[in-house]
Amino acid sequence: MVSRVIPVDDFDLVIFGGTGDLARRKILPGLYRRFCSGQMPEHARIIGAARGEMDDAGFRDLIRDAIKEFAKKNDCDDEKIGAFLQRLHFVTIDAKGEGGWSDLRDLMRDGVVKAFYFSVAPSLFGDLAKRLHEFQIADDESRIVVEKPFGRDLATAKALNAGLAAHFDETQIYRIDHYLGKETVQNLMAVRFGNILFEPLWNAQYVDHIQITVAETVGVGGRGEYYDKSGAMRDMVQNHLMQLLCLIAMEPPSRFEPDSVRDEKLKVIRALEDIDHHHIVRGQYDATDTEQSYREDAGDPRSRTESYIALRCLISNWRWAGTPFYLRTGKKLKARTSEIAVVFKDAPHSIFGEDAGRHANVLTIRLQPNEGMTLKVTIKEPGPGGMRLIDVPLDMSFADALGEEADDIPDAYERLIMDVIRGNQTLFMRGDEVEAAWAWTDPLINGWEARNDVPKLYDAYSSGPEDAAMMLHREGRRWREVKE
Ligand code: NAP
Repeated sequence: MVSRVIPVDDFDLVIFGGTGDLARRKILPGLYRRFCSGQMPEHARIIGAARGEMDDAGFRDLIRDAIKEFAKKNDCDDEKIGAFLQRLHFVTIDAKGEGGWSDLRDLMRDGVVKAFYFSVAPSLFGDLAKRLHEFQIADDESRIVVEKPFGRDLATAKALNAGLAAHFDETQIYRIDHYLGKETVQNLMAVRFGNILFEPLWNAQYVDHIQITVAETVGVGGRGEYYDKSGAMRDMVQNHLMQLLCLIAMEPPSRFEPDSVRDEKLKVIRALEDIDHHHIVRGQYDATDTEQSYREDAGDPRSRTESYIALRCLISNWRWAGTPFYLRTGKKLKARTSEIAVVFKDAPHSIFGEDAGRHANVLTIRLQPNEGMTLKVTIKEPGPGGMRLIDVPLDMSFADALGEEADDIPDAYERLIMDVIRGNQTLFMRGDEVEAAWAWTDPLINGWEARNDVPKLYDAYSSGPEDAAMMLHREGRRWREVKE
């Protein structure tokens, strides 16, 4: 099987913050991989921009090192890297200043796709949008890409949206959530809407509950002070976990097109019920013999910011009434894993008798590690001795199913940047979606702040606070084990 390369138009991509961590770790190594896959038009160029004084040669040296450090080892071929670097240019620009903008304008070509990636702090989004417009660098066809965090509450998200909308139409704005660029997340839609098997069962009548887990083993480390201003709800739930929840819960869109998909996601967010505080568990990791506690990492012995959160969400609509969606995410947990598990109800009656055992079907969609899907089905335990039932997985890990092609699956950033160039907004969040997500999140955060809620301590590298386990236990359910 040969992978299909969809051609893209010629482009000039400007990366504001081109010398920063995200650009060096993800964006430029991702573009390099697309270059190696033959997906970059012959004359396409990438222009880094930041305040630091640097020429093209300095920028190319910086990015050569970044590719060697962050691209997969077997991708690093000196000749290819050299050819890719020839596409790179650099302009010194301060988002808040006047210098450098004319140089950028002179460098940009007409008649190609112009895209501007804002890989800088959100406080600079408005300045960049304004200057791109004032200096007539962007036109009506240009695209801008903005990074998370998109606000810290509804008011700030609205202000960011207004700052961008003053100069760009919504159809030009690409709000990135890299979870949506993951192969498995798109495969989730393929499985739901490309097969007849699942959709008839995808509702409250047949699904007992759904678990969405994004567990990390790392703590907040050196980013403690920064992280302490947000916490797991703002950093992970409001964006990544809610996006996953939307894709799982939404109605079938009429087409796989930007507004069809985003309209359906928005309806899910608007149908989310408020959560009472018994269904929210927040935690902070404790110290180990050798490592600091969350509060020490955050530099605030009285911090009330959560490094872990678990929530029980309900969606008020015909499809999902009464079906819990349990969400959890946290740092310094037992294993690094992201997965969605759709736990189906038991068969209504066992013809084999209760002694044979009863097992629910579970469809697990793994985002990392080992992207893939597993469907747990019940079969007879082989051998004599009567009818005893056991679970076996029907496993479809991409590495096994696709062989060598799995190595060529683009990373989320690669795919999303190429979607920007193609002008496809399907996997990007629309402004009203982001605002609706904050409108749901804000009262929950305000609620625990008003209650002076203190997060529960949990052992580092455990499954999280005991209260989170109890939250499910009270309903006769249990979290899936956090394991790689
Ligand atoms: P970073 O390492 O601090 O880099 C910031 C970049 O912006 C640098 O290139 C910096 O270069 C440039 N910059 C700062 N002020 C500027 C100004 N006034 N005008 C022009 N350029 C300016 O930050 P980062 O980690 O790359 O993050 C960039 C954005 O992506 C942030 O919004 C962050 O929240 C988001 N993000 C990052 C990650 C990640 O993994 N790093 C993940 C998700 C989202 P100079 O100082 O030379 O100007």
